[in-house]
Amino acid sequence: RADRRAARLEMGDPLDRSAALLRGARAACAFTGAGVSTESGIPDFRSAGGLWRGVDPMAVASIQGFEHEPDRFYAFWRWRHGVLQSAKPNAVHRWLAALEAGGRLRGVVTQNIDGLHRLAGSRAVHELHGCFRQARCDGCAHRCAIETALAASQAPGGPRCPDCGARLRPDVTLFGELLPPAFDDAVEALSDCDLLLVLGTSLSVYPAAQLVPHVREGGGAVVLVNAEPTPMDALAEVAIHGQLGQVAAALGARAA
Ligand code: NAD
Repeated sequence: RADRRAARLEMGDPLDRSAALLRGARAACAFTGAGVSTESGIPDFRSAGGLWRGVDPMAVASIQGFEHEPDRFYAFWRWRHGVLQSAKPNAVHRWLAALEAGGRLRGVVTQNIDGLHRLAGSRAVHELHGCFRQARCDGCAHRCAIETALAASQAPGGPRCPDCGARLRPDVTLFGELLPPAFDDAVEALSDCDLLLVLGTSLSVYPAAQLVPHVREGGGAVVLVNAEPTPMDALAEVAIHGQLGQVAAALGARAA
C-alpha cells in the first residue's frame, strides 16, 4: 500500500496536473465529441443507452441510407431534429466558451453537429461534421433551414430542391462520406496547439480521431476526459475517466 501511495504522489493528482497544463498553455484547444452534450440530454452514439441501440446507423445516418432508404433516413432525422433543437448548452459548453473569452483557449474543434458550442458563446468553432440546423441540395448550391427540408420529407423519395429538383439533405457529414473543408481548417488550427483538451469522445471515428496524434506529433500535450477508456489514453499526459460535468467543474476551479 505504501508503494501505491508513493506512486500516486509521484504521478500527482490528475486534476492538478491537468490544471497546471492548462495554466501553462499558450495555445490550448479543445476537441469534443458527443459526450460533452449528453448532459444536455442528447444521447451519444456508443454509450449504453446511446443513440444507436436498436437502430442501424448505416441505414439512418449514412450516404447509402440517404440514397437508398429515404423513408427510414428522414424518419430518423425528424426524430433526431426534435432531440437536437430542444437541447441547451450545459456547463461544459459554457466553461469552454468562458475559457476562450478569457484568452485561455484558442477554440473548439468538435465532432458534434448539435451547434451547442456556438450557442454557449464559443466563437472559434470548427464543426468537423457540420451542423444539423441547415439542409443543402445534393445537386446544386441551394441551402435552407433543416425545418424546411423536414417539413417536406414525407413526400415520396424525400424533399426536393426548389431550384433544381435534386434531393435535399441535412448539411452534415454522413457515414461513408469524406469530411468537409472544416477538417483541413482544423488541422491547420491545431498545427501549433500546445495543449489539446480531448473531451467526451470515444475516438473511434476517423479521420477526426487522427487529430489527437496530430497534436502529439507537433509536440502538444493531451489531457483526455471521458467516461470510459479510449484507444488513445496512452497518448495523453493525463487521462481522466469520469463524468465531464464534474471533472470540468473541478478542473475549472483548479486552473482558475
Ligand atoms: P461516441 O458516442 O462514439 O463517444 C462518446 C463518448 O463520450 C463515449 O466514450 C462515452 O463514454 C463518453 N461520454 C458520454 N457521456 C459522458 C459524460 N457525461 N462525461 C464523460 N464522458 C461521456 O461519440 P463521438 O466520439 O463524438 O463520435 C461519434 C460521432 O457521433 C461523431 O461523428 C458525431 O458527429 C456524432 N454524434 C454527435 C452528437 C451530437 O452532435 N451531440 C450526438 C451523437 C453522435
